Amino acid sequence: MTKYVYDFAEGSKELKDLLGGKGGNLAEMANLGLPVPPGFTVTTDACRAYLRTGDEPFGLADEIDLHLERLERQAGRRLGDTADPLLVSVRSGAKFSMPGMMETILNVGLTDTTVIGLAGQTGGDERFAWDSYRRLIQMFGRTVCDVPGEQFDRALDAAKAAKGTTDDLGLDADDLRALVTTYKEIFTAHTGRAFPQDPRDQLDQSIRAVFSSWNAERAVLYRRQEHIPTDLGTAVNIVAMVFGNLGPDSGTGVAFTRDPATGAPGVYGDYLANAQGEDVVAGIRNTMPLQDLAGLDRRSYDELLAIMARLEAHYRDLCDIEFTIERGKLWMLQTRVGKRTAAAAFVIATQLIDDGVIDADEALTRVTGAQLAQLMFPAFNLAGRPERIAAGIAASPGAAVGAVVFDARRAAEVAADGTAVILVRRETNPDDLPGMIAAQGILTSRGGKTSHAAVVARGMGKTCVCGADGIDVDVHQRRFTVDGHVVSEGDVISIDGTTGSVYLGAVPVQPSPVVRYFEGTLTPGADPLVAAVDRILGHADKVRRLAVRANADTYDDAARARRFGAQGIGLCRTEHMFLGERRPLVERLILARTDKERDAALADLLPLQRADFVQLFQAMNGLPVTIRLIDPPLHEFLPPLDELSVKVALAESRGEPDGHDRALLDAVQRMHEENPMLGLRGVRLGLVVPGLFAMQIRAVAEATLACREQGVTVLPEIMVPLVGAVQELEAVREEALQLLRTLGVDARIGTMIEVPRAALTAGEIARAADFFSFGTNDLTQMGWGFSRDDVEGAFFTRYLELGIFGVSPFESIDRDGVGRLVRIAVDEGRRTRPDLHIGVCGEHGGDPESIHFFHDAGLDYVSCSPFRVPVARLEAGRSTVAATGSDTR
Ligand code: ADP
Ligand code: MG
Ligand code: MG
Repeated sequence: MTKYVYDFAEGSKELKDLLGGKGGNLAEMANLGLPVPPGFTVTTDACRAYLRTGDEPFGLADEIDLHLERLERQAGRRLGDTADPLLVSVRSGAKFSMPGMMETILNVGLTDTTVIGLAGQTGGDERFAWDSYRRLIQMFGRTVCDVPGEQFDRALDAAKAAKGTTDDLGLDADDLRALVTTYKEIFTAHTGRAFPQDPRDQLDQSIRAVFSSWNAERAVLYRRQEHIPTDLGTAVNIVAMVFGNLGPDSGTGVAFTRDPATGAPGVYGDYLANAQGEDVVAGIRNTMPLQDLAGLDRRSYDELLAIMARLEAHYRDLCDIEFTIERGKLWMLQTRVGKRTAAAAFVIATQLIDDGVIDADEALTRVTGAQLAQLMFPAFNLAGRPERIAAGIAASPGAAVGAVVFDARRAAEVAADGTAVILVRRETNPDDLPGMIAAQGILTSRGGKTSHAAVVARGMGKTCVCGADGIDVDVHQRRFTVDGHVVSEGDVISIDGTTGSVYLGAVPVQPSPVVRYFEGTLTPGADPLVAAVDRILGHADKVRRLAVRANADTYDDAARARRFGAQGIGLCRTEHMFLGERRPLVERLILARTDKERDAALADLLPLQRADFVQLFQAMNGLPVTIRLIDPPLHEFLPPLDELSVKVALAESRGEPDGHDRALLDAVQRMHEENPMLGLRGVRLGLVVPGLFAMQIRAVAEATLACREQGVTVLPEIMVPLVGAVQELEAVREEALQLLRTLGVDARIGTMIEVPRAALTAGEIARAADFFSFGTNDLTQMGWGFSRDDVEGAFFTRYLELGIFGVSPFESIDRDGVGRLVRIAVDEGRRTRPDLHIGVCGEHGGDPESIHFFHDAGLDYVSCSPFRVPVARLEAGRSTVAATGSDTR
C-alpha cells in the first residue's frame, strides 16, 4: 500500500518530490538535531490522488490518525484537550517554492472550549488565547471556506477604531473575545454553518484546502510563468504550534545565512517581537534588524547564528530560514537553499570555492547563463533616488527611458524623429507591433510573463514591464494614473525590465561593470563581482567541449565578439553588405537585361565585398570566419510594391514618368512571391543568377590573399544556405573549388542545414560538405510549418496558455521535433564523414537550454550574437559538468 504520511524522523531533503521542499527540509533539520517542533508531512502523492478523484485516497485518514497520535505523544499534548490543547499549523509546501501562492493555516485545534485551555496553558494569558482563536477563524474562513478576507479586516479595524487604537496590541482580551464572536458571525453568514468545533474536522478540512490551493488561479498562473510543471501537487505539513506572540520574550523572524543581494557573508534578517509568523510578511508592524535580537535575547541569538552556520555547511550553500522564539526558546520553522540575485550567485559560488566547500566544477552549477545575461544589461543608476511610481512583472530585461505614448501609430510617429518612446498599453495585441518596434520599451498594466507584450518583447530583445496593475491606463485621455500621479503623453518615464520597476522621469543609465570588463576597461581586481565572473567563466572555458563563435557582419561586431571571447565567426550574413548606399548596385544587378549589364553590376560589387571581408578577416586574425553566400530573395533589396506603385502612378499622372522607377516596379511585380520564406532564395538564387555566388567567392579569395600579404592569418569558410539536396551543394561546390584553385586559396566549403529535407538526407549532403551549420530559425519555421513573423504575434500567447509550448520554439529549441532533425543530421552526416565539423548559427546558439541540447547532440560549436558569447561560454561549460544544472526556482 502506498505510504501517504511521513513523520519528520522518516523524511529528508532528498525526498523533495514526495514531501515538498518545506517538508523535506523540516525533516532534514529535525534529523540534524535542530530544534524543530514535532510534525509530519502528507505526501504529494496524496494530493495528486485527491485532485484526481476529489476524495482522499483510501487509508490516508488512518495514517493521519497514527501520526497524529505520535505527534501528540512527542508534544505531550492532545488535539482538543480542553485543559491542555495541542495546536498545529497546516502548511502547504511543493517541490518548487511558490512564494505566497498557496495556503498555510495556523492555530488549528482552537475551539470555544480549547481556547480556555490555551489561556491556562500559557499561565492565564487570555489575550493571547483569544487573539490566536480569532486568527484561526480568519485564516480558516478565508482559506478553507472562501470567506472574503476584507470582511474580517473590516471587523478588526472597527474593533480598533472603537477602542481608539491603531495597533493590534491595543486590543485586550475582552475586545478580542468580542471580535471572535463577530468573526464567527461573519463565518456563518458566509458559509451557512457554524465555525467547526471539532479540531480533527478542522484539521481534515484544512488539509483538503491546502490540496486544492494547488489549483488556485494565482498558483496556476505562477507555475505557467515560472515553467513549473502543473501536475506535481503540493505536500501538506502538520506542525505543532509554537508561539511567538506570548509577550516581549517571544517573537518571530526570517534570516539569510549571507546577503542575498550581494553575496557578502554576515547576518541578514528581520525580527519582530511578540508576533506570529504571518505578521512579519504582512508588514503589520515594523521589524527590527536581526542583529538587534542580540540585545534582546543573547542566548537565542547565539544559538540561531550557530544553527545558521551549521545549515550553510550542511546545504553547502546560502540558506534562508524562518524561526520563532517562544519565551526564550528558539524553534526552527523552515529552511531552504535561498534565492539570490544574479550578482550574489556569482560571488557566493566563488566564496564557496575559497572556503573549500565546493570545487570549481560545482561552482558552474551554482550560476546560470540567464544570470550572466542579466548582469550584462545596462542598469539604472539609482543614486539620485528616482521616484518609483509602480512595479510590474520583469518581463524582458533592460533599462529603457522615453516619452510615454499610448498607441502604436503615435509611437511610430514620435520615434520617427529620433525621440525615445515608451509604449504604454493596458495589454498589447498584434496591431501594436509597429509601435513595439519603434519603442525603447513597453509597459502594460495587464498580463504576465507569457502575455503578448512579454513574448514579443523578449523575442525582439526589447525592455518590457508587464502586468503593472497599479497603473490605470486611459488611452482616450492619453494618460495613465498611478498612486495619485498622472502621467500624460510626452511625459518621460524609465522602466526596468530586470526588476519590474517604473520610475518617473529620466533615470540615468550606467553600463554594466561586467560588460566593461569584457570590453577591457575594467580589471577583475576592481570589483568583486567582476572577479567572480572572470573566475567562473575562466573555468567554463577550461572544461567546455563546445567552441563558441559569433554571428557578425562588420568589423566592429567582430572585434567586440572577439573581446567577449568568440573563437571565430560562425555566421557572416553577406546580404547585410548589399544595403544602404550599395542598394543601387543591387538594383542594377536585378534590372540587368543582358549578360554584359549583369556582369558589370557584379564587377562593381566585387571590390566592395572584398573590402568587407578584409575587415572581418583582420578582426578575426587567426580564427575561422564562416561566410554565408547571399540568402534572402533579391526583391527584398527593392522598394515595397505599394510604395513604388503609388510613386509611379503619381509621376505618370503628372505626365513625368520615370523610366527607372517603372522598370523597378515591373521587376517587383515580376519577382513578387506569395511566400518569400519558401521562394527563390539561398542556393536557389545562386543557381539561377549566373555569376552571383562566383562574385562572392572571388571576393572571399581575393580578400584572403590581400590579408595574407599583410601577415593576417585567414581561415575562410564558405557556407551555402538553404540546401535541400546534395546536387544543389555539389553544383556550387564544384564552381567554388575551381575558382579557389585558380586563385590559389584554400577554404572549407559547407552548408547550412535548415531545410528539413537537408536534415533527412544529411548522409548524402555530407559528401559535398566540409561542415554543417544548423540554421535553427528556418529549421524551426519549416519543421513546424509556420513563419515566425506571422505567428509570434498571432497565436503564440494562446499556445503558451494552452501549454502546447512550454516556451516559444524560437526561444528554446524544440527538442522533440526540430531537435530530432538535428540529431539525425549529426548522426548521418558523421557516418559519411567522421571529421565533419558541425555547429549552429541560429539564435538558439545563444540560448542556455538549447546550448545544453547542442552539447548532448555532439556539435562542435555554437555561434550567437556577440553579446551572447559570454553566456554561451558559460552554458557550454555548464553542459559538461551537470546535465541538470542548478535549480534556483
Ligand atoms: P510560507 O510558505 O508562505 O512561508 P509557512 O508555512 O512557512 O508559509 O507559514 C508562514 C509562517 O507561519 C511561518 O513563517 C511561521 O512563522 C508561521 N508558522 C507556521 N507553522 C508554525 C508553527 N507550527 N508554529 C509557529 N508558527 C508557525
Ligand atoms: Mg515559510
Ligand atoms: Mg536561414
